[in-house]
Amino acid sequence: MSDEAKELKEKLFYEAPHAGVKMTAEEIDEADSFCEGYMSFLDAAKTEREAVEQAVELAEMNGFSPYVPGRIYSAGSKIYYNNRGKAIILAVTGESGLTDGARIIAAHIDSPRLDLRPNPLYEQDGEALFKTHYYGGIKKYQWTAIPLALHGVVVKKNGTTVKVRVGEDDGDPKFVISDLLPHLASEQMKKTMAEGIAGEDLNVIVGSRPFDGSDEAQNVKLNVLNLLFKKYGITEADFLSAELEIVPAFKACDIGFDRSLIGAYGHDDRVCAYPALMALLDTELPRHTTVCVLTDKEEIGSEGNTGLNSAYMAYFIKALAAAEGLDGEAVLSASKCLSADVNAAYDPNFPGVFEKNNTSYINKGVVITKYTGARGKGGSSDASAEFLAEVRRMLDDENVVWQIGELGKLDAGGGGTVARFVASLNIEVVDAGVPVLSMHAPFEVVSKLDVYSAYRAFYTFYQN
Ligand code: MN
Ligand code: MN
Repeated sequence: MSDEAKELKEKLFYEAPHAGVKMTAEEIDEADSFCEGYMSFLDAAKTEREAVEQAVELAEMNGFSPYVPGRIYSAGSKIYYNNRGKAIILAVTGESGLTDGARIIAAHIDSPRLDLRPNPLYEQDGEALFKTHYYGGIKKYQWTAIPLALHGVVVKKNGTTVKVRVGEDDGDPKFVISDLLPHLASEQMKKTMAEGIAGEDLNVIVGSRPFDGSDEAQNVKLNVLNLLFKKYGITEADFLSAELEIVPAFKACDIGFDRSLIGAYGHDDRVCAYPALMALLDTELPRHTTVCVLTDKEEIGSEGNTGLNSAYMAYFIKALAAAEGLDGEAVLSASKCLSADVNAAYDPNFPGVFEKNNTSYINKGVVITKYTGARGKGGSSDASAEFLAEVRRMLDDENVVWQIGELGKLDAGGGGTVARFVASLNIEVVDAGVPVLSMHAPFEVVSKLDVYSAYRAFYTFYQN
């Protein structure tokens, strides 16, 4: 190659760098230690409620206190608003307050899982089982024959809440959904992967010994209910007012000889929620008021009063604006947001569904996604070129390792994020997050350098 061509290529071509090449050894060490905190968070926060509890605990350790409606907050105040224990907004008020809008990062803390139905417990052929209703987009066959844990709350008629978390501590029992042995699976194996395990097959084994050693009908179920009554003081009717979630019982762990990756349940979207939270906790006296929203229900379309299709974020920002004597709608219109959610990482095992020039890769840093959607950007908020330019400048100025990526090949499928609900408030918004392998599987994989790049991107955004 001529020198001129070489020089021109360096000047004119664009390719996102590998984080392991761009980062210094010191930054790589920082990334590894940042991820230790992330992995502890993952183990402690497998449900949206647990993620809120963890966020409150970390926030209070960092000087945050509950938001008091109507109070006028001076610059540098650190507050949080807990929405029903399932979503949380944290904010640090800025030097110029909300005059030029807020700087918002929104991530979700719900993950695909199996919820218990209102009448979950039954006995069949000597086993006690829980009926589940899957939550979010799962490949059902992935949930059989793996260790499972039970998390959630039972709210009794008198209003008292019983917290349940079984299958996580050493010595805890775990649960499982059985699958068919290959020897007898010749009919099952002919089915499509979508049909091989049906929703009604996702029944969790929770017991198999009869009460009192007697073989009367329903005694295995009775034994389970008796154990639950002794431990939690609940009866079968109390399941009617419960939110109990079956999640994988795995703990987060390093993957690879080089320990470069993290395998865990629920990276989507705690892998953005945790860096967003940390970036906010590390922000002291920003120029603009900075806001971190950890929201619920994204995996089922952001519906419900704890999802971002609800008005709770707008109400919170409008209330802060009113306390400053500002017009809430003008403040929202001047606000900017990173919709912090994961994207599909290119997978060498399945190259056919990715378009190599426009997909995200593990270890190339935080991924900016201009638009998501399906069937021609349907259901997507397509971020403006102007905002993209601003974000590029911001990230490059601070040497953040980042890349751009779409969600797979056209016509291969698609997906969405909370960006469109943020955009519907007339807020400037773009998606930014961490590339994930095996997204929505019970055990997902991310790169440590990407997790840290997300943290750096979010921190940078808050300082601008
Ligand atoms: Mn997500
Ligand atoms: Mn998801």
